Amino acid sequence: MKVRFAPSPTGVPHIGNTRTALFDYLLARKNKGIFILRIEDTDQKRLVEGAEEKIEEILDWLGISPDEKLKQSERLDTYKKYAKELVEKGVAYEKDGAIYVKVPDEKKLSWTDAVGNKQISFEGKDVEDFVVLKSDGYPTYHLASVVDDHLTEITHVIRGEEWISSVPKHLFIYESLGWKPPVFVHLPVILSTDKSKLSKRHGAKSVLELRDEGYLKEAIINFMALLGWNPGGDKEVMSLEEMVNLFDLKDVNVSNPIFDIKKLDWMNGVWIRKLSVEELAKRVGSKDLKLVELAQSRMTTLNDFGILTNFFYEKPKIKLDQSDRIVVERLAKELSNVKTWKTEEILLVLKKVMIEEKVKMKVLYKIFTGSESGLPLPQSLEILGKEKTFERLNV
Ligand code: GLU
Repeated sequence: MKVRFAPSPTGVPHIGNTRTALFDYLLARKNKGIFILRIEDTDQKRLVEGAEEKIEEILDWLGISPDEKLKQSERLDTYKKYAKELVEKGVAYEKDGAIYVKVPDEKKLSWTDAVGNKQISFEGKDVEDFVVLKSDGYPTYHLASVVDDHLTEITHVIRGEEWISSVPKHLFIYESLGWKPPVFVHLPVILSTDKSKLSKRHGAKSVLELRDEGYLKEAIINFMALLGWNPGGDKEVMSLEEMVNLFDLKDVNVSNPIFDIKKLDWMNGVWIRKLSVEELAKRVGSKDLKLVELAQSRMTTLNDFGILTNFFYEKPKIKLDQSDRIVVERLAKELSNVKTWKTEEILLVLKKVMIEEKVKMKVLYKIFTGSESGLPLPQSLEILGKEKTFERLNV
């Protein structure tokens, strides 16, 4: 089993495109096969500087690095050779310095797609003549893709279903060169919640952007895998290792998956709570295990840690009105009677003040933290310490 992820470095792929790489990785690892990264950089006009490095950074960070790497611009002679061969065989012709392939009208081209096991057929008359080698000496996607898939002995071609219309062209090249085509696996296109094709406009970000926003690789991978794959049952939260064990092409869905960022948020929270406190501390860059443990239950992304714990490090700037000030004085008085500065005792005092002064919890939050909600307050004050708590009341 040998698979390839073949991005064109024309930009940083969004999470939907990166899904293909994950499926490649899962299939390869499950079957003890090989996963190749193939950079399809033959359209020189569309290249974006740095995109190739970003693609590799994404795979490395997710922990799904390829076993081998190939770059098409370094193999131009190979493609030229096969373009000439197609001319010699009489299935291609030269025009304006470019080489075109013509599929005979009566030709039938069909395959059984591994997704849904459905037979798909095209007729030659519906396939327009297509360029395989451009006048600048670079191959087009159609030729380069077939030549590389054949020479590197790719067994399964996994990609988005928007490539289905290219398959008849590819099949004709395979047949003309006397090669056996691989198994085709066309993944249903991912839709946004409004049912249109997912795009950056819908907030489909790249994995690197999501990383910077505080999403865990474990959650991103888990979420991506479920965009079109389901191992059966209602098991949803899975590690990469578990997914490798469970992965099977027959469980790739034929219906279009919907990209719902709310699900990613939920999943990220689940994965944050699955981490050990030590590991979470490392990921948020904190040494304060008590604080990390307290925040763990309330975080959706890693970036929430900074937001939730900011008040520990900085005295919040707040404006209090006359009635708040009465509460502050009352708090100062009652809290000064607390003997052991522990959550339980602090909680009793806070409750008492709330009841007797007839104020809601959010007023206390405002006084101590500057915002109206946050981490559990008594625990927070215990960690903050008595001295600092009184500093906050000194307004
Ligand atoms: N370069 C194509 C892309 O950007 C590859 C399609 C394929 O996997 O054959 O998606």
